[in-house]
Amino acid sequence: MRTIDQDTPEKSKKDTDKKKPDISHEDDEGSRTVLPGDHIGITEEFASGEGTYSLAGDIYANRTGKVHVNKKDRKISVVPITSVPPVINKGDIVIGEIVNVRDSVAIVSISSIKGSSEREFMSDDNFVIHISDVKDSYVKDLSREFSLGDVVKAKVIDTEKMRLTTSDDSLGVMTSRCSKCHGILRMEDKNLKCPSCGRIEHRKLSKDYGTGVV
Ligand SMILES: [Zn+2]
Repeated sequence: MRTIDQDTPEKSKKDTDKKKPDISHEDDEGSRTVLPGDHIGITEEFASGEGTYSLAGDIYANRTGKVHVNKKDRKISVVPITSVPPVINKGDIVIGEIVNVRDSVAIVSISSIKGSSEREFMSDDNFVIHISDVKDSYVKDLSREFSLGDVVKAKVIDTEKMRLTTSDDSLGVMTSRCSKCHGILRMEDKNLKCPSCGRIEHRKLSKDYGTGVV
């Protein structure tokens, strides 16, 4: 395990009149998340360590990570955050949100991977469900199967092309909102019905729709 601490309150407000970087944990193990180019300290106070560079007396992060200060030598460094990002494998069942529906693909932002204690998944990379992978039968209109904001359960079929399938009874939409009033749609006689406005909608549903069971 790396030393990634939770945020802790600033211990002392010393030297506040001096030119001071906006860093509230300089006496602790690093805990502030920074991006490349973020100002993390001054050379007067710290030595520039790994993942940092100094310029005209200021120290900046050169990678994304947590600020870490070595108490002995006052070396400030940036420790990469995700030492072991969850890896998505072919065959994994994932939970995600529909973030876009186009003519032939639905775009899914994955939030977790089933199994292994429901690993949280953080990535900017979106997966896609191609219109041919929605279900066994032919799909003519993808917008009849998925809608923006739907939570879907899907299976990974190609990690390079980042493709998912929902072609199974257990896979498909798990939670969905009314496109008119945003009420949460309920299952009623195999249809999705909005309890607020009575609207009936269609989706490629998982048999676990609305159960909260992944
Ligand atoms: Zn409604």
